[in-house]
Amino acid sequence: MADAEEPEKKRRRIEDPTENLKHRATRPSVHPPYGTNVMAVDGGHGVGGCDWDGRWNHVTKFLERPGPFTHPDFEPSAESLQFLLETCKILVIGAGGLGCELLKNLALSGFRIIHVVDMDTIDLSNLNRQFLFRPKDVGRPKAEVAANFINSRIPGCKVASHFKKIQDFDESFYRQFHIIVCGLDSIIARRWMNGMLISLLSYEDGVLDPSSIIPLIDGGTEGFKGNARVILPGMTACIDCTLELYPPQINFPMCTIASMPRLPEHCIEYARILQWPKEKPFGDTSLDGDNPEHIEWVFERARKRAAEFNITGVTYRLTQGVVKRIIPAVASTNAVIAAACATEVFKIATSAYIPLNNYLVFNDVDGLYTYTFEAERKENCSACSQVPQDLQFPSSAKLQEVLQFLTESASLQMKSPAITTTLEGKNKTLYLQSVKSIEERTRPNLCKTLKELGLSDGQELAVADVTTPQTVLFKLNFTT
Ligand SMILES: [Zn+2]
Repeated sequence: MADAEEPEKKRRRIEDPTENLKHRATRPSVHPPYGTNVMAVDGGHGVGGCDWDGRWNHVTKFLERPGPFTHPDFEPSAESLQFLLETCKILVIGAGGLGCELLKNLALSGFRIIHVVDMDTIDLSNLNRQFLFRPKDVGRPKAEVAANFINSRIPGCKVASHFKKIQDFDESFYRQFHIIVCGLDSIIARRWMNGMLISLLSYEDGVLDPSSIIPLIDGGTEGFKGNARVILPGMTACIDCTLELYPPQINFPMCTIASMPRLPEHCIEYARILQWPKEKPFGDTSLDGDNPEHIEWVFERARKRAAEFNITGVTYRLTQGVVKRIIPAVASTNAVIAAACATEVFKIATSAYIPLNNYLVFNDVDGLYTYTFEAERKENCSACSQVPQDLQFPSSAKLQEVLQFLTESASLQMKSPAITTTLEGKNKTLYLQSVKSIEERTRPNLCKTLKELGLSDGQELAVADVTTPQTVLFKLNFTT
């Protein structure tokens, strides 16, 4: 049974780092004559020159007076707003459906120093909901167009854009932000970001230094369902702690696709991954899920492959589903989830309200349903627990089985793990999928047993994967 003190303790734990956020930041020492400077010296786009009378009335209602819902330790003052306007540095990951909403919400709430990262360009099909983009912008980088739109529309806001992958940046980039918000459609990117923030944590004698925590607000949507969550890395449940909540990834081992297909999906993947690049049916064009001729080609090849192995169920529709990995997008869901996320950023940045603890679910498939719960940390989480990960296998197990476990286990769900170890003092790559020549060279290892590979009980395996910026260490325990 939970004792009465328990919720209070948990709440305290969550409050602390947000307090800390304010101490970490350099607070402005002099308050500009806010509200008095109505003369715009540079056309109304410069900081200080654009805070006309009453501009932030909607925000000061929350920050400059007490209320029944404010944080018990909150002291109303003009400082919080100045912190938002001048100091607080926010990173938005993704400038798509959620990203456009987030940028707009944050900018209108008083956040001015915002960076946005997105590796995508604008597609015509985005325009129904990604409202910072216009037909003339099709083909241009989302981050750039979104930043320009916000900067020109909201005086004083300075959004910096990065047309890049999150993986293109290192620790020093991420460390500069007070809060990071994710509006991503990829679990891999989310996990990578989560792993990056965990790698920034510093521990002294096993005790987490709260000043090394950067809060992560994560929003996700799929059709009419969405979720928003607040993650304090190292303190509350991280993305990997709750990996079982995500649908299992559709990812088949190369070995299965190449030599022992059992499912129609295996045959489609065979045509997509192996036959397409080899046969180049449309020259050097890469496979386009929106091109019916491309899908038709994959479908035909997959059907032939399936016939050879007596597998049924390959259809045009399934082919399209596997190739495109379709996630439908609904504008209203994005609006709701982004609003929840922006609110959490505001709460944490100002310390005026107690943040969401810690997971909000939204569903309006049938009526409207929403609730929040406290996702719990997983004691042996491979990302945030600092507990060595155990792998239990008999010495007669094949490396393929280990690889399969890493990708199929609900709590790991790795994508294309690369396994290395130290044998006789030398680093040895047991299997690596992402580089073609190494994949070919190490593929025979998959069919060897752990014993044949020279591995022993207690052996450490280092596993690298796209789901994390850090290598995950596993300890191999032989079972009998
Ligand atoms: Zn975790």
